[in-house]
Amino acid sequence: MVTLRIVLHDDLADLVGGRRDVVRRLPAPTSVKDAVEALDIPHVEIGQVALDGRPATLTDRIHDGARIDVRSATPHDLANARFVCDQHLGKLARLLRFCGFDTVWDRSLCEAALALLAIREGRVVLSRHRALLQRKAITSGLLVRGDRADDQLVEVLRRFRLAGRVAGPGRCTACNGELMATAKADVPVPIPPRTAAWLDDYWICARCGKLFWEGTHVERLRRRVAAAAARATAG
Ligand SMILES: [Zn+2]
Repeated sequence: MVTLRIVLHDDLADLVGGRRDVVRRLPAPTSVKDAVEALDIPHVEIGQVALDGRPATLTDRIHDGARIDVRSATPHDLANARFVCDQHLGKLARLLRFCGFDTVWDRSLCEAALALLAIREGRVVLSRHRALLQRKAITSGLLVRGDRADDQLVEVLRRFRLAGRVAGPGRCTACNGELMATAKADVPVPIPPRTAAWLDDYWICARCGKLFWEGTHVERLRRRVAAAAARATAG
């Protein structure tokens, strides 16, 4: 039997019902990662750890009587801002696509398939489901806390320092295809007559052919993502 004390810092206590100081009894020695994840904190949410006051890594082994201090994951840059959203995050996926971030959202994917896709394509997993984020193979992810898509977008922009890279419309909100700027004369599908009368600039999705233009819909989305970017920067 191994007894250890886990002290949670930053906002990690929110993930375990507000407890900051937890004493655990485990049947055998284990890794720091497994000990913390046993509290239902996915490893992607773990930042710096210390074992008995000294800097440690997630693979370090714990011993009887150990104390683990855990900090939450800190904001960091992404080499490739590519995401995959779990099935509950369709609205967030649409906002991310509008911002220009390559984002897969496919309700037909089971969690195993979603994890595989993330690994194969180097995508960051965005999920509200802790068990998904606790899969060993997932190295980059975010446990989404907010209920509203706009709040969730703030979380993503803040964690991955993306507020300065928001540019909409970037991708097709419906299918994640790339948008091509297209002059009115070259638009291959019928344009609603009232729109065609006063607008010359359009975007067309290279994948599904959906047409976008500088109308109230795009304007509203642009305002929402700009507000999220401002909140993410404000801290
Ligand atoms: Zn499309």
